[in-house]
Amino acid sequence: MISRRDFLQRASLFTAGLSASGSLSRILAASEIPAPLNEFGYGDVAVTSELHRRQLEETHALLLSLSDDSLLKPFRQMAGQSAPGQELGGWYQYIPDYDWHTFDAGFAPAATFGQWVSALARAYAITGDRTTRDKILRLNRLYAQTISGDFYSIKNRFPAYCYDKLVCGLIDSHSLAGDPDAYRILEQTTDTAIPHLPGKAIEHDHSWRPGTDESYTWDESYTMPENLFLAYQRGAGERYRALGIQYLDHDYFDPLSEGRNNLAGRHAYSHVNALSSAMQAYLTLGEIRYFNTARNAFDLLQEQSFATGGWGPDETLRAPNSGDVASSLTGTHHSFETPCGAYAHFKLTRYLLRVTRDPRYGDSMERMMYNTVLGAKPIQPDGRSFYYSDYNFQGKKVYSDHRWPCCSGTLPQVATDYGINTYLRDHSGVFVNLYIPSSVRWTQEGAEVSLTQKGAYPFDSLVKFAVTPSRPLEFALNFRIPAWAQGASISVNGKPVTDPVSPGSFARLRRQWKANDQIELELPLKSRLESVDARNRETVALMAGPLVLFAITEKPPAVTSRQLLSAKKVGEQNWQAETATGPMKMLPFTALADQPYSTYLRVQTL
Ligand SMILES: [Zn+2]
Repeated sequence: MISRRDFLQRASLFTAGLSASGSLSRILAASEIPAPLNEFGYGDVAVTSELHRRQLEETHALLLSLSDDSLLKPFRQMAGQSAPGQELGGWYQYIPDYDWHTFDAGFAPAATFGQWVSALARAYAITGDRTTRDKILRLNRLYAQTISGDFYSIKNRFPAYCYDKLVCGLIDSHSLAGDPDAYRILEQTTDTAIPHLPGKAIEHDHSWRPGTDESYTWDESYTMPENLFLAYQRGAGERYRALGIQYLDHDYFDPLSEGRNNLAGRHAYSHVNALSSAMQAYLTLGEIRYFNTARNAFDLLQEQSFATGGWGPDETLRAPNSGDVASSLTGTHHSFETPCGAYAHFKLTRYLLRVTRDPRYGDSMERMMYNTVLGAKPIQPDGRSFYYSDYNFQGKKVYSDHRWPCCSGTLPQVATDYGINTYLRDHSGVFVNLYIPSSVRWTQEGAEVSLTQKGAYPFDSLVKFAVTPSRPLEFALNFRIPAWAQGASISVNGKPVTDPVSPGSFARLRRQWKANDQIELELPLKSRLESVDARNRETVALMAGPLVLFAITEKPPAVTSRQLLSAKKVGEQNWQAETATGPMKMLPFTALADQPYSTYLRVQTL
C-alpha cells in the first residue's frame, strides 16, 4: 500500500515524463512507478447482462463436462503412459504421425489445457462452485503425474506455447482456486520444460530445432514473459522474474519503443498478445521503454484496425498505408482471429488503461467486445469453435473447420474476464469502464459500498446506477465518456451535473454518497460512418455508439451516406436503412445468426 501523497508524486512525475518526451528511455526505481489502477477480484463483480452471463455459463459448463481422462490423454500418450478414455479429437489430440499440412486433428496436442484450467479457476473465483474447484485440483494432480520432457520434445510443435498456458493455469489455480500444490507443480513443469525451450524469444518463422519442418517455427516463446512475471509477482519465486527477462522479445519491442513501426508481416494474435509481456515488463522492472513499446504498438495497431476493433486479416499484421486492410474485404473471409485476438486486446487495453487512466483504451475494449467476441458462436461439445470473424463484402458467421482450436482456449478466459474489465479502482474510488448490467462491491475507508448498473446500453442510450455505502461517505465515481459520445450528460438523484461531461474523458463525481443514491448517464448513440482506410473513403461501416451495424444482404446494394446515416432503429436490436432497391436490415454482431452480411458498404456520395 502506498500513501496518497506518494501516489500523487509518482503520478505527476510519470505525467511530466511522458509529456516531456514521447519515448523516455529512463529506468524508474520501483518506488517511482506510478501506481496503476487496481483490478477488482473476480468475486467482487457480478455480471447480470444476459449476453455476457450466457457466454460465461456456456463455456464454464462445457469445461466442466470434459472428461478428466480425455483432457489428460495427450499428456499421458506423449509421456508413454497408459492413456484410457476417449479422444477429444481436433487440435487437442496427439497423433504421432501427424501431417502438419492438414492443419487439422493433431495440430496442437493439449495446447488449451492450461487455458481451460485458468478459466475454471477464474470461474470458481466468480461463482464459488465447489465442483469447479474439485475439478481444478484433480486435473492439476493428474497432470502432475504426466510431467515429462517428452511432452516438450520433437513430439510437440508448440512447447513454449503449451508451457506459457500451463503457467497461466497453475498461477490462477494458486491465487484464485487456492490449490496448495499449484506452485510445486509449476516448479516441476518449469524444471522439465525449460531445457527443451529455445533459451530466448524466437520469432515466428525462425527455425531453432534442427531437423524440423516449417510447422515447428510457429511456436510463440515471445508471449511467455507476461505469465512468468505474474508468477513472480504472485510469489512463485525469483526464477520467474529472471525467466521473464530472458524471454523478452527485443527484436520486436525495441523499434516499437522508439515509435518505429515493425508490425508488418508479423503473426497478428501472438504479437498483440506479446505486448502484454511488454506491459508486465514495465510493471515488474520499471523500465519505461516497455510501456512505450506497448503504447506505440497500440496506436499503430489502431491505424490498421477494422471498424469492429478487429485486426490482422489472414492472421497477419499489415504495413501502414498499404491498402491491405481494404483489399482483404474481397480477398479473404479470415478477417480477424476473434476469441484469441479479443483476449489479447482486452489484456493490453486493460494494462494501458490502468497505467494511463486514458479512457480511449476503454473505448477500444468496448468496441472490440460488442463487435467481435460477444457475438462469437458458442463452443460445441464436439469442439467446433468460432475462430474468424468475416468482414468480406459477402460475409457469414461460421464455425471453424477445426475442432478444439486455439480459440476454444481463449473464449472461456474472455468470458470470465468481463467483470474485471468493467470496473477498476484507486484509493479515491472506482472507475466504471464498461456499461454492462452488473454490480460491484468494495470497502472504502472502512465502509462497505455497492454499485449497481442497469440498462439496455448500447441498444439504448441510458445507463442507470445505484450506489449504496454502509454509511454516508465521500469518494469518487469516475465514468468513461466515450470519444464518440457528443452531448453526454449525467444526473444525480434527478439533478443534472453542472460540470461539463467531455467525450474522451472520465467524468469524475466526487461527493458524499449516501444509501441508494441514483446516477443516470446518457450516452447519445449518434450514427456515424467510418472508412476502412484513408484511400477508400467511400468504403464505410455504419456505427451507432460503439456498435457496428452489419448490412444484412447477399449483394451490397447501392446506398448513399445520407441513407445510411438515416438508418432507423426498428426493434430492440434491429435497424433499417433505405437503399435504391428498398429497405435493408442492419444488425449488431451479437444479433447476427447465419444470414449473409456485409460489414462495409461502398457509398455513392459522402
Ligand atoms: Zn485462436
